[in-house]
Amino acid sequence: MAVSVSVLASGSRGNSTVVQSSSTRILVDAGISCRETFKRMKATGDDPHSLSAIVITHEHSDHIHGLAVLSRKLNIPVYMTAATHHAWARALRDATGELPEIPKLEFFSSGRRFHVGDIDVTPFTIPHDAADPVGFTFRTEGVRIGVATDLGYMPASVCDHLRGCDVLVLESNHDLEMLRVGPYPWSVKQRVMSRVGHLSNTALAEFLAGDYDGNAAYVVLAHLSEQNNHPEVARREAENALSSRRSLLYNQVMLARQEQAMHPIRL
Ligand SMILES: [Zn+2]
Ligand SMILES: [Zn+2]
Repeated sequence: MAVSVSVLASGSRGNSTVVQSSSTRILVDAGISCRETFKRMKATGDDPHSLSAIVITHEHSDHIHGLAVLSRKLNIPVYMTAATHHAWARALRDATGELPEIPKLEFFSSGRRFHVGDIDVTPFTIPHDAADPVGFTFRTEGVRIGVATDLGYMPASVCDHLRGCDVLVLESNHDLEMLRVGPYPWSVKQRVMSRVGHLSNTALAEFLAGDYDGNAAYVVLAHLSEQNNHPEVARREAENALSSRRSLLYNQVMLARQEQAMHPIRL
């Protein structure tokens, strides 16, 4: 088995991705139910019971909804920042009166690299309206994978972390015009468009045409809004941005989906 990336689900109704080496398997976010996670892993040919750890980007429910059950069922380490854990525990207590129980909880700090088996994990800060949100890069067997969704814009620090990646899973949340004329209340539109909201197709295209180093064989468009985007609109904007740079014609653009797991990328 080589290194692979499987986006199990992506969008405002749940996010979850598997990053694996020959010997280690990490679940990035647990935004869909335990049952659905198991079902989708089996569909991509992976055994959920072989997961080594879960890492969490932030406490919004579309990233953490299935975590409590998954971590109990699998009894594997769960990594998040202390601030994310605190915010999640408080939200859960307010909603249900109960505190989350994670059998093997580990804290990391943004910017500090840690290891899960033979995978190097580097969390980095992203601009989003959560307690302590992060993106990740993963390095193993000479392959580097970057995951950054839920960010209001692309700061230089994030661009730096995403250099040298062979696979990039990046947010392409909304088409600006569809969001403007769409059904969301004004306050929600303002939040999505803010510096701590979500990345538009256009903002991602600016990154791809500009600061992006062109290294990735695969660029996965993720966290697409179902109301304010269309997969083909997002794909066209990303491909146009890449084709403005002739050397990037071999970057393959893929779309992560909400309803089913994406075909795994094997490297
Ligand atoms: Zn979020
Ligand atoms: Zn999200």
